[in-house]
Amino acid sequence: MNATGIVLHTNLGRAPLAPGAAAAVARAAEGYGDLELELASGERGNRMRAVAEKLRLISGAADALAVNNCAAAVLLALATLGRGREVIVSRGELVEIGGAFRVPAILEAAGVRLVEVGTTNRTHPRDYEAAIGPETALLLKVHRSNFAVSGFVAEVGLRELAEIGERHGLPVVEDLGSGTLMDLSSRGLPASSFAPGRLAEGADVVCFSGDKLLGGPQSGLVLTKDPEVAEAMRRNPLARALRLDKLVLAALDWTLATHLEGRAEQEIPVLRMLLASPDALEVRA
Ligand SMILES: *Cc1c(COP(=O)(O)O)cnc(C)c1O
Repeated sequence: MNATGIVLHTNLGRAPLAPGAAAAVARAAEGYGDLELELASGERGNRMRAVAEKLRLISGAADALAVNNCAAAVLLALATLGRGREVIVSRGELVEIGGAFRVPAILEAAGVRLVEVGTTNRTHPRDYEAAIGPETALLLKVHRSNFAVSGFVAEVGLRELAEIGERHGLPVVEDLGSGTLMDLSSRGLPASSFAPGRLAEGADVVCFSGDKLLGGPQSGLVLTKDPEVAEAMRRNPLARALRLDKLVLAALDWTLATHLEGRAEQEIPVLRMLLASPDALEVRA
């Protein structure tokens, strides 16, 4: 019996799918579909179009895409924007998420050179400024998903980092990890989990997981401020290697449609569980 109150745990398979999402998977699995077909014209279509369009509509981002998981999204963003060049990251954000997702290893796999700035507990704007040079491709911000640093600490927030990026003509990529498409800050969840809000704060690219707070299938979602960045990511040969299959797409499309229709809190198990009122929990206990 899981009586711990843990809603999302990687060892337990993360987000349980909503019945509607599971039914969409079953429909996609059992027969043929219009996965890569434009029904109106009979021409070959793009399997990602529906999901990208819903992501744009929900988030207000200029463009969006989805790949296998958040690690893949970060890999693709770094390889597309930074290959062969330098990426600046705070030493306080060189994290290991678990399951061998280590930020320095992902940078290496993406073919970018890691430039570490600051210290474990304190990083200042001047640290980024001093590290920026002709080889710099982008500034990376990584969410500390599974630990906190407290005490004598200093961090450059996203807004400030974006200002530095803008001054130097450098994009800011954020690995948000657990992100939502609903602003749940009034409901006790951190405002920083709201992925579209990260674009508003100044990030140019935001990557987050589909099967964490979003409550959908395993996937990595990317929102971009510049449509050309998303297009460059789609054109990267890695995108083909990291693309979603039709079953995941069916579940993701259903999950996004539910958000668009304003029914996410009622329909998506993770959100329903996390947003349960203390009164309801007390009755259940
Ligand atoms: C969970 C997490 C990841 C990895 O996400 P996956 O979808 O499991 O690949 C990457 N970065 C951060 C900050 C995370 O929290």
